[in-house]
Order: sequence, then C-alpha cells, then structure tokens
Amino acid sequence: MSDQTAGFSTRAIHAGQDPDPLTGAVVPPIYQVSTYKQDGVGGLRGGYEYSRSANPTRTALEECLAALEGGSRGFAFASGLAAEDTLLRSVARPGDHAVVPDDAYGGTYRLFAKVAEPWGLAHTPAHLGDLDAVRAAIRPGETKLVWAETPTNPLLGIADIAALADIAHEAGALLVVDNTFATSYLQNPLALGADVVVHSTTKYAGGHSDVVGGALVTAKTVAVPGFSDLDDRIAFHQNSMGAVAGPFDSWLVLRGLKTLAVRMDRHCDNAETVVQFLSEHPRVSHVLYPGLDSHPGHAVAASQMRRFGGMVSFRLRGGVEEALAACKRAEVFTLGESLGGVESLIEHPGRMTHASVAGSVLEVPDDLVRLSVGIEDISDLIADLEQLLA
Ligand code: PLP
Repeated sequence: MSDQTAGFSTRAIHAGQDPDPLTGAVVPPIYQVSTYKQDGVGGLRGGYEYSRSANPTRTALEECLAALEGGSRGFAFASGLAAEDTLLRSVARPGDHAVVPDDAYGGTYRLFAKVAEPWGLAHTPAHLGDLDAVRAAIRPGETKLVWAETPTNPLLGIADIAALADIAHEAGALLVVDNTFATSYLQNPLALGADVVVHSTTKYAGGHSDVVGGALVTAKTVAVPGFSDLDDRIAFHQNSMGAVAGPFDSWLVLRGLKTLAVRMDRHCDNAETVVQFLSEHPRVSHVLYPGLDSHPGHAVAASQMRRFGGMVSFRLRGGVEEALAACKRAEVFTLGESLGGVESLIEHPGRMTHASVAGSVLEVPDDLVRLSVGIEDISDLIADLEQLLA
C-alpha cells in the first residue's frame, strides 16, 4: 500500500507493510538474517540474496519512507550522517562544489569540511534565507549540489524550498533538503521541487530515543540532466559502502513512523505554549521559532509547513553562564544531545551538539539554549521552565 491518495497516517501505518503472507502477522517481522537460501544458483526468493544488499524489514521501511515523502525510492542507513555521506559520494566527484547552509547541523558541516573537502568536494556556506547569496555562492559548471536544511539545527532558520529548487536546477545542480526537524508529516520538500530528502531517523521518525538511523528519499522525476539514474546510483553506493540500517533498527523506525502524525501534533501544541511562555519571560532575550510572526522566515515557513514543529531555541540575557546554569537546573527536560523523542530535552548547542563548528562561520551564540519539546503534560514542562529560569 503506497497509494499517494491515502492520508498520511494511513500510509505511515500500511505502506510497505502488508500483513505477512505466510502467517498474517500485521507487523512486518524482524528478519534478523544475513543470507538467504537460493533455489539453484541465482534462484533468489523475492530478490533477496544478502542483507547488506536488501533485507525484507529494511525494504518495508524504505517503501514506507518513500510513500510518506511522496518519492520514488527510499533508502535506509545506519545513521543520518551515513545517509548524507552515501549521497555525497553517489552524486559528487572530486572537483565538484556544493553550497551548504551557513547554519547547518554541526555534524553535516563537519562532514563537508573535514571529510568531503579533503576528498575533493569543495563547499561554500551561504545564508539560505538570502537567495542572492545562494546565487552568488554557485560556481557555474562546478556546483552539483545545493544543500538545504529547513528549519535549521539549532537556529531554526527557514529556507524557501521552491525558490532554492529553481536556483539549483538553473545551475544544473541537485537540491537536497534535510527534513529532519520538520518531518515528512509537516513538510514535503519533493513536492516543492527538491530532488532528494535526507532524514536523521534517529529523531522524530524513530521518535523514542532508542535507535540511530538515517534515510534518503529521491524525487520521482529528478529535474537535473545527467542525474536521471539517481535511484540506481544511490542503491549502488548503499550496497557498495554498506552503511545500511540493520533489521531491528529498521523495525524500530518503522514502528515509530506509525505514530508520527499524532506525536508531531502534540510536539507542536506543546512547543507553541512553550514559545508563548518564553516570549514573555524577562530573562529571555530572543525566542527562535518559525511559528512566531516576528521570525524572518515565518511567511515562507507558513507556506511550506503544515505546522512549525517541536524544536525551540532561545537566548538568555545573562549570557553563557546563565545558559549553562539553566541547562543544569532542568528536571523534566533532560539535559542531553539529540532531539525528536517523546521526552523533552534541553541542551547548550555551543558546548554540545555544535561544539564541532566552534571557530568556523557556523559557530552558534554561547547564550543559546535548544529545547526539543516532548509530548509530556504541558503544565509539567512549563513548571520546569519556570524553575530552571528562576
Ligand atoms: N541532520 C540533522 C538536522 C540532525 O540534527 C542530525 C543529528 O543531530 C543529523 C542530520 C545527523 O543524524 P545522525 O545523528 O542520525 O547521524
């Protein structure tokens, strides 16, 4: 069941997950297996020969991911960064160039700066909210990728996906969108012209902080000449590089996806109340949330997102010391990295998730605190914020 006319949650619960033909089990089994019996040499059952190449539990997840993004094909990986690395090597060659967000997730930037750059893929950070800056960063003939993240981690910047798709395609480049923060429930970049969507399924897709995974989903029609075989290239690299999602991890993400829509609506409800509370708090100097009218990307976010998500960042008038103290005092919010799970998390990006970009153009303010607003009772979340900011 991957019918695009079915609603989001119907696809999340059924796409790629027909009941098991042998037993009728309504949940795809965890095929914890590395190899498959062949009926004579080359006589594969269902096309399965070795679990790095394909595994039925991973296939179920990959079909579901493609259905949720409205894409051609899904690919599941061992982590978000494994998905990104596989994509870069599938579509770029040494000598090529990429435009990257000037406030990308720190690990993505580290991949470009410390792994892809020495391999030969140059990059230019650009402020994606400024389309002229993106045009200026493109190197005609060399730029093969425009990489977008929207909203960004941790500054909640917004990029106009349709406008970036036009700019990328005019330059003969692919538009890649990291949709981790928004999720396929709140935003569908492929429908807006993107060529590939990236997810850290570790986050909202898995949703329970119990799995690390990543995904790529390709567009049905890739708008850039020379990339028409994108699905085959990624499939080749996924198998050749081997950073695939294992059967149990695939199963956990698949289970998470079933409740994505209901979780996201609750994340959004709670985040909206948290934003209102923080906006009125005397110790808070700025609240970063695309749902605020005052956010510079609000109109674009409203046009391309169903709602504005569960991630909220804020800055403290008292500077870094107050930001660190607030993180330490948290009780219901757990002090920790990652995001997108049912439990609320708090962190200091400058010293934690984004420490790897310290000293680069992507360095984040040291008075910044990031919240992943979970789905607990909102009264308990507000009470915790009250005490940790007191
Ligand atoms: N993209 C974004 C927006 C992220 O926040 C992260 C991780 O925090 C990643 C990609 C990388 O994903 P993973 O940690 O699963 O490798």
